[in-house]
Amino acid sequence: MRRSKKHSRPFRPIDERAAMGGVRRETGRDGVEYKVRRIPSGAKDYVCPDCNQRIPAGQDHVVVWTEDTLWGAQYGIDSRRHWHSSCWRRYRARV
Ligand SMILES: [Zn+2]
Repeated sequence: MRRSKKHSRPFRPIDERAAMGGVRRETGRDGVEYKVRRIPSGAKDYVCPDCNQRIPAGQDHVVVWTEDTLWGAQYGIDSRRHWHSSCWRRYRARV
């Protein structure tokens, strides 16, 4: 017996953000492409590179890195920084 069409899932285009595990690509004011990943709840404290204030564990924030460096992608990944979401938005707005 065939299942009713009513129960089939509607077609959805691939969501790039979901496909990349929630990573967005954003271009910084230096023209470099950054990868930005939202961290809904951090495991530990970080220091935001923009305002030098603490990002307490458990706070929603973003981690930002670029794979476009003179020393290669791994260097960029290793140099990733945790930012307050609002600080990153403000930084990007200065582009
Ligand atoms: Zn900050």
